[in-house]
Amino acid sequence: MRLVLAMVEWPKNELDEFSQSVSALKDGPTFCEECFNFADTEKCAICTSVKRDQTRIAVVEKVTDLQSMEKTGAFNGVYHVLGGHINPANGSLPQNLKIKELEFRIRELQKLTPDIEVIIATNPNTYGETTALYIEEELKPLGVKLTRLARGLSVGSSVEYADEITLVNALKHRH
Ligand SMILES: [Zn+2]
Repeated sequence: MRLVLAMVEWPKNELDEFSQSVSALKDGPTFCEECFNFADTEKCAICTSVKRDQTRIAVVEKVTDLQSMEKTGAFNGVYHVLGGHINPANGSLPQNLKIKELEFRIRELQKLTPDIEVIIATNPNTYGETTALYIEEELKPLGVKLTRLARGLSVGSSVEYADEITLVNALKHRH
């Protein structure tokens, strides 16, 4: 009720925009074809930004992890959203994640520069660790620099809910 009362006060153009956004929800979100972040167009605002360093790629499990890292403002690179983590018990296997897409992306980028860093920013729990190790093995033959978030993040916690200071430190001291 409160929401409706507030919306009555909105200018018509804002109401129109809002209703379009709500009806677009039915079609599900659309994803960036590069990093699998949410996007309105083929590529998201981060991938298309000239201010972002396209050669530093943070690999995260979910879009919400990306959003938490963005909130810190401490990361100037780009992302790669896996769409989850490896958990065979749940039927979540490597081929369900965007790992092949990550390899392809790196190969394409390597045509432009050899100086690429992949920061594996999966969650510091069993599934995140399993996923990180798998990705490290997969990417090793490509010869890119591989780093991990530092252990500012306590074991069993998550990237999404880490406070900003912890995340900034984990990024700063990545190894
Ligand atoms: Zn993107």
